[in-house]
Amino acid sequence: MSERDERHRKAMQTLKSRVDEKVAAADERRGQLLVFTGNGKGKTTAAWGTVTRALGYGYRVGVVQFIKGQWECGERNRLEDDHHLEVAIMATGFTWETQNRESDTQACREVWAEATRMLADPEVYLVVLDEITYMLKFGYLDIATVRQALENRPVEQTVIVTGRNAHRELQAMADTITEMTEVRHAFNAGLEARRGIDY
Ligand code: ATP
Ligand code: MG
Repeated sequence: MSERDERHRKAMQTLKSRVDEKVAAADERRGQLLVFTGNGKGKTTAAWGTVTRALGYGYRVGVVQFIKGQWECGERNRLEDDHHLEVAIMATGFTWETQNRESDTQACREVWAEATRMLADPEVYLVVLDEITYMLKFGYLDIATVRQALENRPVEQTVIVTGRNAHRELQAMADTITEMTEVRHAFNAGLEARRGIDY
């Protein structure tokens, strides 16, 4: 074996033992709270990717969409026939145009009721609360209510929260936080949102 190959072999051996140690140490088994936040693109698509992953094993999944100026959603179209998936969409609700506090709050309450049902159901393996961060930001939902539902959820249930500016308390509770960083976004160069890519 050349000197270079030998160095490589040793480095890989060290790496493997470190990874093995970490794998052995990660032995706690429970559902998790994941937060996908930040200004970059990819939060909702990452959530739907995980939904697909869970459905792929036959788990039951609930998706709650809290903000729908953008109603169309390719992933929902593709997956809605899977009877293991339930999607709840905020009704009239929030659009950037209406900004009617009273009707928005009402619509938010209604869809939150669906979310609390899912968050109390041990049969639901994964719950996605898509764009819920805005409901907290605008005061349509209060953090204490959300925190209580999350804390009391079934131990095997995983929850994904998406949206920009995730509330500090949500981040404090989270097991995994991924911040999508906007390095560049096509929209800012005048490119329109693209069907099947952006929604
Ligand atoms: P996606 O749904 O593509 O995963 P996202 O959930 O991270 O995006 P949102 O803030 O929910 O982003 O934005 C929803 C819409 O805005 C999507 O069409 C998305 O492609 C687009 N978008 C995401 N990030 C940006 C950005 N930094 N600037 C402009 N538009 C964006
Ligand atoms: Mg999103």
